[in-house]
Amino acid sequence: MYDLILSGGYVYDGLGNVPQYEDIGIQGGRITALGKLGGAACHCKLNLKGRAVTPGFIDIHSHSDIYYLLDSSATSKIRQGVTTEVIGNCGSSAAPLYGEYARVQRKRWAAVGVQLSWRSFRSYIQVLRDTGIAVNVVPLIGHGNIRGAVTGYNPGKATKKDLTGMRRLLRRGLKAGAFGLSSGLIYVPGMYAGTGELIDLARLTGDYGGIYATHIRGEGDNLLTALGEAVLIAEKTGVSLQISHLKTGNRANWSKIEEAFFIIEQGQRRGVQITADRYPYIASSTDLDVILPEWWHRMNYKKRHQWISNKQDTLAAVLTETLPDNWADDIMVAHAPALGRLKIEGLYLSQIAARERLSPEKTMLRLLQKTDFQAQAIFFCMNAGNLNKILRKPYVMIGSDSSLRTVQGRLRIGYPHPRTLGTFPRFLSKFTGKGKIPLAQAVYKITGLPAEKLGLKRRGRITKGAYADIVIFNPRRVRDTATYKKPFCYPEGIETVIVNGEIVFANGHKSGKLPGRVILKTDL
Ligand SMILES: [Zn+2]
Repeated sequence: MYDLILSGGYVYDGLGNVPQYEDIGIQGGRITALGKLGGAACHCKLNLKGRAVTPGFIDIHSHSDIYYLLDSSATSKIRQGVTTEVIGNCGSSAAPLYGEYARVQRKRWAAVGVQLSWRSFRSYIQVLRDTGIAVNVVPLIGHGNIRGAVTGYNPGKATKKDLTGMRRLLRRGLKAGAFGLSSGLIYVPGMYAGTGELIDLARLTGDYGGIYATHIRGEGDNLLTALGEAVLIAEKTGVSLQISHLKTGNRANWSKIEEAFFIIEQGQRRGVQITADRYPYIASSTDLDVILPEWWHRMNYKKRHQWISNKQDTLAAVLTETLPDNWADDIMVAHAPALGRLKIEGLYLSQIAARERLSPEKTMLRLLQKTDFQAQAIFFCMNAGNLNKILRKPYVMIGSDSSLRTVQGRLRIGYPHPRTLGTFPRFLSKFTGKGKIPLAQAVYKITGLPAEKLGLKRRGRITKGAYADIVIFNPRRVRDTATYKKPFCYPEGIETVIVNGEIVFANGHKSGKLPGRVILKTDL
């Protein structure tokens, strides 16, 4: 007796093969039969004429870590067909939480009513398991967490003792089942790490079979040296490298795309394991203060604050010198905590500047000052041609670079990047089909390929014995509807989402079931 039979859909196996018109039998959370299941007994049967049936999508680059505590149904993810998320990216993970890093994070989250009750990686995993989640989770350890725990936000080079401390924290996480290390080398405190420190930690990660996912040191003017550094780290240590959200940021750097591919592909030819991910949009989104010069980020918090309060004119003059013309036309404020009443979210910096009769530079600095550097922005800095080239590369998978959201309630905050609610349906609708990426290949990029990268042998594929993480969608109707101006719109065409054999989303509604698992590398 099957728990569920999926009957008569076009089954994409997630490995890139041509689809098969066949039935899927599910029992005990696994796929136990494939083929013609005609009159077999079952508790539930779905007739899927004209539908595509694929493995559940794996979001290789997510930031949902703490957001599960606000929405354990992971609504915006399951509505896109995501059944597994890799969390803890860009150098920042929910755990471990110690030292100055913990103090900063606890304060930040307490301001929005979330108590971070854990310290160790293990205890965070326990909190997730106790809460229950709708999707499977693959956790990474953030380099920012371990550096910030040991040296705080001190920009200095790590001493031998610091490195021992960082290694200890990382080893503890890897031993407890983390899938690897992530770094965010444009953020504090990650940007303070030298290449040697990263090599040291990547080597340890590689020893445990983990991956090293990196938001590299620069994605614009110093893209190529930053890529070179990432490849060097992997080559020296043997760690499996994941370049996060590969891009050529800012018009002046668009022409660097072929050189960027060359650096990656030369590395691959030398035997370095390199893959990358990207979201299917041409705007990025992150902290607004990333636009400030590096020397500013290298000052401690107190000094940074002093500069922004007392030397605003000097800082504004530096920005005028260094930023391109009309830069403020390309930056939209996505979230300005505590300034909601000013209604500046969703506006471009140039619009706010005009309204306030200030220069764009001063407008931005005031905004950073008022939000205690917490303002988030969307940067329109990329182009469609390069996006197409990147997505077509066989080693590029799709990552949303987003945390989960809901369109109502506490998680309807600001103007999140539309990738938050649209990434996977958008990829399927805009980048696949005739003259584009064949659907079977596209499905592989969001299922089998990330599963292989992570060493998940029984996910990301529809084969006998695999976990029943499955998405059913209408290939003619699937599309994203979230936009920069109207980001809180769920996609269309994703009809049924199954996690470990349980339906979590069907007929436009989530079921409320929480069958997701925290997957630990030690359990594979
Ligand atoms: Zn990032």
